[in-house]
Amino acid sequence: MNHLIQLRHTLHQFPETALEERQTAQRILEFFEPLSPDETFQNLGGTGLAFLFKGKKPGKRLLFRCELDGLPIEDLNPSDHQSQIPGKGHLCGHDGHMTILCGLGEKLAQNRPESGEVVLLFQPAEETGDGAKAVLSDSRFEQIRPDFAFALHNLPGYPLHQVVMRKGTFAAGSTGMSITLTGRTSHSAHPEAGINPAQALARLIQELPKLPQEANGFALLTLIHAELGSLAFGTSAGKGSLSMTLRAYDQQDLDELIEKVKTTAEAIATSEQLKVEFSFVEQFAVSVNDPSLYPEVEKAAKGLGLSLIEKPDPFRWSEDFGLFSQICPSFLFGLGAGENCPQLHAGTYDFPDELIETGVGMFEKLIDK
Ligand SMILES: [Zn+2]
Ligand SMILES: [Zn+2]
Repeated sequence: MNHLIQLRHTLHQFPETALEERQTAQRILEFFEPLSPDETFQNLGGTGLAFLFKGKKPGKRLLFRCELDGLPIEDLNPSDHQSQIPGKGHLCGHDGHMTILCGLGEKLAQNRPESGEVVLLFQPAEETGDGAKAVLSDSRFEQIRPDFAFALHNLPGYPLHQVVMRKGTFAAGSTGMSITLTGRTSHSAHPEAGINPAQALARLIQELPKLPQEANGFALLTLIHAELGSLAFGTSAGKGSLSMTLRAYDQQDLDELIEKVKTTAEAIATSEQLKVEFSFVEQFAVSVNDPSLYPEVEKAAKGLGLSLIEKPDPFRWSEDFGLFSQICPSFLFGLGAGENCPQLHAGTYDFPDELIETGVGMFEKLIDK
């Protein structure tokens, strides 16, 4: 295990952010070379990598996914493996998740599955929600398209090694949405000669956060940014924008909320003679766990003697693993990172090395089934 901890520390020292993970991918590639996987896929969906290990007999194809990216946040934890890259840190534990799949790769190299195939996927750009989409739309994905897909995420705030599970939605779907209102500037002495979006913007700020109340299940709209005109005191504003994050536990609720925002904004814009445009970023599908896989994961946890809890509600945050749940039965579970572990994306966060062995063990048991 020591060499795996060493690998985790090296990955931690050199974090790369979404879609720039070239050096990280190179390191992973070098790790896998002596393991002789049957097939290696490079530059999947950008910087992604996949390694395929064939079993002794034909059968189902299992995919395990981890993430290559770090965050554009300073690593403030003064450890011997503190980030060497200013302003960037592995503060979501993706260094640990990668190491777990490397450990699993070693196990597979020593001992092939009885049947079927195992794909170890190192996906780029999870944090922006771009990576899963890019990998799934890569034409070579057909060669590794799984029958089942699994992933784990470490969870600060839960006892170390505890397995956190849910049937159905595990993590919310979400999207960033911007509304741009275009009117016409004029001299601030003659605002009546222009079309100023200020009133429309004010109405949107008041109206939009109320929309989730009409949803069937949990839905949330959080305003994150607003802009009107510029700091030119002689000019009546001619442009404004409002940005927000929408989230829901159910894909249909999320889609309906987006539609309601559009209709509301269109109605307000029309009444003020403004042009309205919409744009979307950081779109994450709802992560839905297939109930048929629940007993498998439960058995794996019990087999390792780990404590297990079923979370009553889904997590409000999102994971782009959600897209995998749209293409095959899939399961995402949490591994407790310790009750006193700093939260994900906090500057002081560091992946607990003890979880490497637990993660490898969980995935190995899922292959045994
Ligand atoms: Zn994260
Ligand atoms: Zn993460």
